[in-house]
Amino acid sequence: MEDYLAGLNDAQRAPVLQKDGPLIVIAGAGSGKTRVLTYRIAYLMHQGVDSFNILSLTFTNKAAREMKKRIADIVGPSEAKNLWMGTFHSIFAKILRFEADKLGYPSNFTIYDTQDSQRLISSVIKEMGLDKDIYKYKQVYSRISSYKNSLITVKAYFQDADLIEADAMAKRPRMGEIYQQYVERCFKAGAMDFDDLLLKTNELLNRFPEVLAKYQNRFRYILVDEYQDTNHSQYLIVKALSDKFQNICVVGDDAQSIYAFRGANINNILNFQKDYDNVQQYRLEQNYRSTKNIVEAANSIIDKNKTKLDKVVWTANDSGPKILVNRLLTDGDEGRFVASSIFENRMQHQLNNGQFAILYRTNAQSRAMEDALRKRDIPYRIYGGLSFYQRKEIKDVLSYLRLIINPKDEEALKRIINFPARGIGGTTVDKLVVAANHYDRSIFEVIENLDRINLKINSGTKTRLQNFMMMIKSFQVTNQTADAFVLAEEVAKKTGLLQELKKDGTPEGIARIENIEELLNGMRDFVEGQKELADQTGSLAEFLEDVALATDLDMDTGDDDRVALMTIHLAKGLEFPYVYIVGMEEDLFPSGMSMNTRAEIEEERRLFYVALTRAENQAYLTYTQSRYRWGKLVDAEPSRFIEEIDDQFLEYITPIDTYQYKPLIDIDVFGEVDKSKLRLKKPITGRPPLAHKPSEEQLRKLRKLRPVSNKSASTQKANLFDGDLIPGTMVEHMRFGKGKILQLEGVGQDKKAEINFENGGIKKLLLRFAKLKVL
Ligand code: ATP
Ligand code: MG
Repeated sequence: MEDYLAGLNDAQRAPVLQKDGPLIVIAGAGSGKTRVLTYRIAYLMHQGVDSFNILSLTFTNKAAREMKKRIADIVGPSEAKNLWMGTFHSIFAKILRFEADKLGYPSNFTIYDTQDSQRLISSVIKEMGLDKDIYKYKQVYSRISSYKNSLITVKAYFQDADLIEADAMAKRPRMGEIYQQYVERCFKAGAMDFDDLLLKTNELLNRFPEVLAKYQNRFRYILVDEYQDTNHSQYLIVKALSDKFQNICVVGDDAQSIYAFRGANINNILNFQKDYDNVQQYRLEQNYRSTKNIVEAANSIIDKNKTKLDKVVWTANDSGPKILVNRLLTDGDEGRFVASSIFENRMQHQLNNGQFAILYRTNAQSRAMEDALRKRDIPYRIYGGLSFYQRKEIKDVLSYLRLIINPKDEEALKRIINFPARGIGGTTVDKLVVAANHYDRSIFEVIENLDRINLKINSGTKTRLQNFMMMIKSFQVTNQTADAFVLAEEVAKKTGLLQELKKDGTPEGIARIENIEELLNGMRDFVEGQKELADQTGSLAEFLEDVALATDLDMDTGDDDRVALMTIHLAKGLEFPYVYIVGMEEDLFPSGMSMNTRAEIEEERRLFYVALTRAENQAYLTYTQSRYRWGKLVDAEPSRFIEEIDDQFLEYITPIDTYQYKPLIDIDVFGEVDKSKLRLKKPITGRPPLAHKPSEEQLRKLRKLRPVSNKSASTQKANLFDGDLIPGTMVEHMRFGKGKILQLEGVGQDKKAEINFENGGIKKLLLRFAKLKVL
């Protein structure tokens, strides 16, 4: 047996060694499903399967890159290079590029991101004269997205009385027309949206048997990670491609299916056995990721779900510390607690920032966390916010590039036709749109033909439009010889984008210039990297495709050491030694919008299972007593999910602000017990150790966990927020007495201050040990 296979246990090795035929691995979190896929690919290659014949579909492109790296370690880098690995969207975008002409698209089609799609829908709604409060563009977008993911084309929509009726009932009788308009406009713009990448792939494989045969023969071995979260459209693609050879290996965990709201269909995993002949089923039971406490607590949670496959998950790891639960007064306190706890843990256990993650149910919760982390100088990175490529200045540059590649791209054109300002106003653009619709041409073509059509614009505007067109055309000429990086640099300079930002001169303006620089650097790396790959050339079109499909998880190179902040949805598949799950409150988690049916609650519970099982060593659950929701301060109630965890796995941190014990019942800020606020039937706070005075041992633990005493505001300031210290600040040191800060250097843990002490002279002290008191 090959050496590397020793890195698997027997249960994991079995699916790796089954080279042919359909197989499914259903197993709980952390049991090595992703590891099995990785080793399986290496094994296939060792068995002589050409890397060219293997297709591996992952949940993020980052996951694909990591897998590829590990495979390269086993089989060698040159062998691993040609593996096709990535998300459904990125893999099938590549295939669609090759085959685009069959579907009537240019091979340089644009990929509209969510923002582009929503903007287009918004303008369609406006052009149709519909009420934008009834036809909310975001809702319309997600509706259209769900049609597409269920393979309901415009034609199918109009043939489906139920759908038409449903939209009419929802007071949106013209949904179908919007859908139609939207689809036509995308097509005319030579653009596919995210959902099209799957829908059109299905169309391609259905309509063209020779294309299907080609890819069936190519992808003889198919592997899919996180199979429980595939939607109908993805399911059909996998089914079609694997139909001939049936060498299909899927891994997943029904308990981690968390994307039903986006059309993921858990039946795909449940029915796998029926879809193929002679399916071998494998189970993995040993969790390698987490402590016993975490694994067993997570089991006790998921046990509450009725709809589930029976699974065993156990671990040989240590019991580890209990899950720590803390109640805070407000989200500000919650943020401060998390930040100080990270700070403490980092010091006590010699950890890096990258070993911590803060997970939340909704993006809005990140703000309080960020504020607190910033105050403590703890570097962090937020995932899932506005991705780098969606920042305004970056999208502006990219829109120029998109237009150069595909002049029909309407959203790109509208974005930059008057940016930087060149005297082409909104009315002119509206006229162009009308003309484009009228002649059934793109806006760019209308501009090219201004002399031949009768558009009521003055001659000055006409010249400006023609200048704009000529500029784009000159870039197109450059594009024929220069690589993507050279072209982008020219665009940034010649369009006046950089000058515009330089003129700005504000710190934000400077940050934007830096972002553009970062984009250009990224492009240079891309061009160099791609040229090494067999089937890539480093063209601008390839770069734009990568960008359109990049998530900010992909941007993470892992180079810098930061605390990770993200929604639980995004955390799927990842692992961190320390995990803080914040906002554990009813209406927030479980979400108030997902409490109507058992199925919805069960999905929320699976989400909690995913969250908890990201933790390797220590998990924290925090909740607040009151929280701002929709602009109002409301009483919060602890999440039912805390209640559902078996008590033996939990330990409560008393949210008292001094070391002195205070009973943890609902004491309002004035110190009075307001019984009406005790909304819990069985008050969570009434459990040991909360109802009783903590033992000496518990108190000792509390002291360890509470980073600072709150007794004196000034000490707290000095100890907590050393970011507040500036040269000139008067401070007091236990041994050296009073002194004045001369200068500060270093960051975070290494921050030092040079202080002139009245008694001790000038000294340089490490702030984290100095325990200075601000005077
Ligand atoms: P999830 O359900 O969260 O996606 P998973 O089942 O895909 O989890 P992996 O991520 O593959 O699990 O594995 C979890 C962790 O355990 C990883 O750090 C992995 O390297 C480690 N691991 C898995 N199997 C073994 C093994 N046999 N020996 C050592 N480490 C292992
Ligand atoms: Mg995994």
